[in-house]
Amino acid sequence: MSKYNTLKGVADICPPDICRWQTIEDTVREVFTLYGFNEIRTPIIEYTELFTRSIGQSTDIVDKEMYTFTDRGGRSISLRPEGTASVVRCYVQNNLHTLPAPQRFYYTGAMFRYERPQKGRFRQFYQIGAEVFGSTSPKVDAELLSMINVLLKRLRINDTTLEINSIGCAECRPRFREEIVAFFSARQGHLCADCKVRLKNNPLRLLDCKNEHCVTIRGETPNILHYLCDNCNEHHQRLKDLLYALGISFVENPMIVRGLDYYTRTTFEVTTQRLGAQKAVIAGGRYDNLVHEFGGPNGMAAIGFAIGMERMAELIDAPGMRYQLPQQLYFAPIGKEAETISLLLCELLRIKGLSVLCGEGSLSLKRHLKASDRFNVSFVIIIGQEEIEKGEALWRRLSDGQQGVVGIAKVEDYLRLIQ
Ligand code: ATP
Ligand code: MG
Repeated sequence: MSKYNTLKGVADICPPDICRWQTIEDTVREVFTLYGFNEIRTPIIEYTELFTRSIGQSTDIVDKEMYTFTDRGGRSISLRPEGTASVVRCYVQNNLHTLPAPQRFYYTGAMFRYERPQKGRFRQFYQIGAEVFGSTSPKVDAELLSMINVLLKRLRINDTTLEINSIGCAECRPRFREEIVAFFSARQGHLCADCKVRLKNNPLRLLDCKNEHCVTIRGETPNILHYLCDNCNEHHQRLKDLLYALGISFVENPMIVRGLDYYTRTTFEVTTQRLGAQKAVIAGGRYDNLVHEFGGPNGMAAIGFAIGMERMAELIDAPGMRYQLPQQLYFAPIGKEAETISLLLCELLRIKGLSVLCGEGSLSLKRHLKASDRFNVSFVIIIGQEEIEKGEALWRRLSDGQQGVVGIAKVEDYLRLIQ
């Protein structure tokens, strides 16, 4: 029985599961680089204000999910609940807008939200996100969605749905907001407790409440796409045209409003039927005013998304998953002198790029062979007193039991073995 355990809603990621994570991370780096994205790393702790101002006071995240504390200097600090606010802060603080536009960044890391833990929902969870700054063009939206599409293809995830929507802008959204308030006010008695509050503070969020009563009364809700102003409508139509041209399939879902205050125009989710209630694997959207609100230059429109790593890791097949990495050579020294020689040889071979393990000189040959088998190695190199005297090490290939000798100090001989 372990004396210490993780907190509720927080998980260790161990081998062999870690292979799924690494596969995703490696593929993300490859694909995002093809599209011109640079990595950015921001701190896990920020001033609380950064999140309350951007995500919005009356959102679930700020209202009830943030890990907030006062530090020893009396400042209110929060663990980041998401990545975008920090990336925008970093972008403005470091004058990254002076780089050639549009600027493209991605990040990976742990996020923290005090949620009710369940499958696919944790209190510490990991996201990989990407953000593009400096363009209002729907071409950027299309390219970002295409990048997601390529990533999913490379990870052989082929049963997800891309759902897109537009939530308009400061010009057209207020009218829609009024309609929503009128619609739900008339049905107030059927709303869940949270939605009664949302009706006052954040009515758009009523559209994506997961409570079953709220879901059933939503059938006839006004459709936001009918309320878009000309500019927002043109943006949305052009995005759809480009997605058709790129051969990217999608469905339009006017219920995708996203829970954060900073979104404008395009919003989207990549969903799956395979994860039960937690069906969004990727979520994102445009946030054309946030850079300016953070004190950056006017007109630096932006769009981004975040991948939920735990959920994506559930979706991928990782045939190479294993507890042990394959090692090319296992050195089996018998005795102290042989151990010293083996240790030196291992260092030399690692410099040459071989992955090698060195056993302990106190083990018997039998125990070495047992260990090498468990470590999944290709060759065992046996060095005992007799071998040292002859200047030859004995090798044994585990796949077929074949044996031979190499010059004990001849690095080329060892390299030749594994060719
Ligand atoms: P949900 O509706 O599932 O709560 P959200 O709208 O709060 O999602 P975002 O803030 O947009 O999610 O985060 C983007 C993605 O990060 C989500 O689509 C999901 O895959 C993942 N995610 C969000 N919250 C959690 C969590 N608590 N645990 C694990 N993954 C999460
Ligand atoms: Mg949430």
